[in-house]
Amino acid sequence: MLTAHGLCWLCQMPLALAHWGLCSCCTRAVLATVSLCPQCGLPAASQRHICGRCLQHEPPWLQLVAVNDYIAPLATLVKSWKFNNRPELAKTLARLLLLRLRQTLLDNVPDLLVSVPLWQRRHWRRGFNQADLLCRPLARWLNVRYQPDALRRIRPTAAQHHLSARLRKQNLKNAFQLDFPVDGLHIALVDDVVTTGATVAGLSRLLLQNGAASVQVWCLCRTL
Ligand SMILES: [Zn+2]
Ligand SMILES: [Zn+2]
Repeated sequence: MLTAHGLCWLCQMPLALAHWGLCSCCTRAVLATVSLCPQCGLPAASQRHICGRCLQHEPPWLQLVAVNDYIAPLATLVKSWKFNNRPELAKTLARLLLLRLRQTLLDNVPDLLVSVPLWQRRHWRRGFNQADLLCRPLARWLNVRYQPDALRRIRPTAAQHHLSARLRKQNLKNAFQLDFPVDGLHIALVDDVVTTGATVAGLSRLLLQNGAASVQVWCLCRTL
C-alpha cells in the first residue's frame, strides 16, 4: 500500500482533503452497510432488531457501534494501522467511526469516553494504544470528555481467542481497575477491534457496578 501524502490510502487517487486520508468513493465503500445487530455488532438478519444471540444472552452494554464488519476494504486499513505500524491512519479510522456514529448515535451521546487499556508491556512494545488514538480525535469532534487513564489493566491477560467462555471470564477477573468516578454517567467504551466481546463485557460490568448509568461500545469492527 502506497502512503504518499495527499493520496487516498486505498485507491491512491489524489485527495481534495488530504488530512482525511480517504477519497469519498473509498469512504462510501468502507461504510457500505452490512446488516449488523445493533446490540452485539455481529452480522445479523436485521439492522433494526436485536439478534437471536442477544435475546438469549443479553450483552451488558446498551449498543455496539462499529464502522463495519471485519471485511475489505475496512479490514485492509485496520491491518495496515495495527500491524504495519501506521499510527497516522488513526485519524482516518476515527473519522470513519465518527461518520458511522452520526448515523446511529441519535440521542445517545455519552457523557464520557474511556478507552480499553493495553497491558503496559504490550503498549510499550507496540508503541501506541490504538483505542486511545481513536478516542482523542473523537472526543474533540463530538465535544465529549475523554478520560485516558480511567481504566487500568492491573495484570496481564492471556489472549482470549482460544479460551472457552468460562475461562475467558476467569482470565479477565480482577484484570482491570477503574480509577475515575463514573456515577450516573453515560459511558462510551472505545476499542479498536472487538473480537469475542469478553473484554468489553467485563469492562462494561465494571463500569455499571461502579454506578455508570449506561455503557455503549464503539469500535472499528466486531469480529468473532
Ligand atoms: Zn480512494
Ligand atoms: Zn446481537
